[in-house]
Amino acid sequence: MNGKVVMDCIDVAYASIKEHAAEILALDQSIGDGDHVLNLIRGFEALRSMRGEIEAQDLSRALKLAAAKLLTTVGGSSGPLFSSLLMGMSRACGEINGAPHGFAQIYAAGVQAVQDRGKTGKGSKTMMDVLIPVAERLNELSQNRCSAAEILDALPEEAARGMLATRDMLATKGRASFLGERSRGHIDPGARSSQLMITAVCERIGRSLSEETAP
Ligand code: ADP
Ligand code: MG
Repeated sequence: MNGKVVMDCIDVAYASIKEHAAEILALDQSIGDGDHVLNLIRGFEALRSMRGEIEAQDLSRALKLAAAKLLTTVGGSSGPLFSSLLMGMSRACGEINGAPHGFAQIYAAGVQAVQDRGKTGKGSKTMMDVLIPVAERLNELSQNRCSAAEILDALPEEAARGMLATRDMLATKGRASFLGERSRGHIDPGARSSQLMITAVCERIGRSLSEETAP
């Protein structure tokens, strides 16, 4: 993995967020202030404007550059949180060895950085309800020596489960927590955007693996 792969992942995640922009806007209008998707799009556009710089780097530096850019361009709560995800992953890259377990550790380090920054875990109706279950499943599947194809199939399912579970939760963190009981019955916008981005990235990596192994 390198800066080129990072940029490809940014492109597919951006396309998915754009495709679902109206839906994410409506979710954040229900339990937030409506800016979540606009924040994300602004961040992605800033990243896409530095394509050459990102593509020229190794994985760790590409993630670090992207993290720094997100911090300065994405507002709201989610900017610093997504920036922490990439920065935490960048820091953990030193341990990569190309094996799936290496990537599981890198992703888990990113999620831990988000958790440290946002000071919440699962169950408070945030993006953590997607990010953490995906990290746990990735870790478990890599420990069990599952193939990359199996892992890339399983993670979107786990992300979808986590995202849907936020619907009935009571928000106890972030802006949605101001609504108290009225926050129930709506999917969390950050959980939905995280699930869409994870799914898009898994599909992209899955496609490139099957192209590599095609006869
Ligand atoms: P804001 O709520 O400040 O307007 P955004 O609209 O950009 O920020 O992002 C809202 C999303 O951020 C929520 O849907 C939720 O998933 C996520 N979020 C808010 N607070 C936290 C937190 N402490 N930890 C993890 N995620 C959080
Ligand atoms: Mg908002």
